[in-house]
Amino acid sequence: MASSGMLLRNASVAGVGRSDILINDGRISAIGDDPPAAGAEVIDAAGGAALPGLHDHHCHLLAMAAARRSVVCGPPETTTGEQLSAVLRAAHLTGGWVRGVGYHESVAGDLDCHVLDRARSDVPTRVQHRGGSLWVLNSAGLAEVGLDAFAMGEPSGIDRDAEGRPTGRLWRCDAWLRDRLDPAPPPDLGAVSAELAAYGITGVTDATPDLDTGALALLRSPSFRQRLTLLGESDSSAPRKILVSDHSLPSLDALVELVGGCRPRAVAVHCVTRVALVLTVAALRQVGTVRGDRIEHAAVVPPDLVLAMAGLGVTVVTQPSLPGLRGDRYLEDAETDDREYLWPFASLLAAGVPVGCSSDAPYGSPDPWFAIRAATARRTGSGRAVAPLEKVSAGAALRGYLTDPLDPGGPVRQVAVGTCADLLVLDAPLDDVLATPDAGHVRFTLVGGEVIHRG
Ligand SMILES: [Zn+2]
Repeated sequence: MASSGMLLRNASVAGVGRSDILINDGRISAIGDDPPAAGAEVIDAAGGAALPGLHDHHCHLLAMAAARRSVVCGPPETTTGEQLSAVLRAAHLTGGWVRGVGYHESVAGDLDCHVLDRARSDVPTRVQHRGGSLWVLNSAGLAEVGLDAFAMGEPSGIDRDAEGRPTGRLWRCDAWLRDRLDPAPPPDLGAVSAELAAYGITGVTDATPDLDTGALALLRSPSFRQRLTLLGESDSSAPRKILVSDHSLPSLDALVELVGGCRPRAVAVHCVTRVALVLTVAALRQVGTVRGDRIEHAAVVPPDLVLAMAGLGVTVVTQPSLPGLRGDRYLEDAETDDREYLWPFASLLAAGVPVGCSSDAPYGSPDPWFAIRAATARRTGSGRAVAPLEKVSAGAALRGYLTDPLDPGGPVRQVAVGTCADLLVLDAPLDDVLATPDAGHVRFTLVGGEVIHRG
């Protein structure tokens, strides 16, 4: 919804200097010294920078809303089996279930229904691995979804032991599982929207694949105020999300067919491992790239693959918070050969690979300012360096959030006459904020000229 008549006084605008910004009908109608603005609401920016609103190029909104109703079962919050039992026992029920997220095997080893039963057995309980593709159910949970006997037509991701009994481990069975759970109360996207607004985010790309009509309706609820780009919508001008699974890789032919089947639409291919990226690069070479093709995560990229991606002209959408948040784990889990190639940023830019920034929330931190700090530090929670040559400046990391949703590594959007008034106003000039990047600097966030956050 557009508003008319707002004057943002005394803002610092890149390339212009101190100016007043007049907004009418959701667009910037003038930038200058005291433009005529009779009747307009006046906001004093007090010399703070006015930037295009930030765009998070890869997140999962419904999972973010759901994560607000879950307990965290992995590091850094939960690190031992005892802590896992404690958080699961203390959890509130959602739709009759205890729901845990963010599990990692460093907490209590490979999880199955028996391990979970020891932690909590009285109510159905399900815990998601932090990678997002695995759910583990306790015995009460398995009974609740009808998995105590062999059921016809069940998906291949349901893991069974040698005797055919379900182990509780369900790989990539989200849709199947959802059909068997009582509908939870609708996720509160308004709360997610408000949190993002407080970071200065005015647009997001939801990277969840294959969104059904129910999910699409939720995502388009009016309580979500930011602009939306959806990679999981079947008919869209945005790239189509493709998952190259980490636990069972497709054949090259299958991937070629999948990518080719999406054309002329661009694709956004999830690649976390080195081998997944090798496969994806080979498939893109065979099919040919189109404008907008992108690699999500690119978590392990040795130099030959950096050059290959530059040659293909594909964009990387990275998550700068992850080496900081989860780096200790990555360093332990990575093959020795892969450690110096984890979560590249600087080497991609140097080779001319366009890079967009994102959170992958709820798996990464939704706070872009945390991510900007992490991109400049490349330090884990315990202080270890993660591929330190991949550090970039705070300004370079910020640029990854200032690009167009359909061109995440492209030119930075501008605060200019005629553009949509999707704006972020900081409490100081940009150079000062970049010296101490923090969400506390965000004073106002506007979408289409409407204030959606006041700090
Ligand atoms: Zn993701």
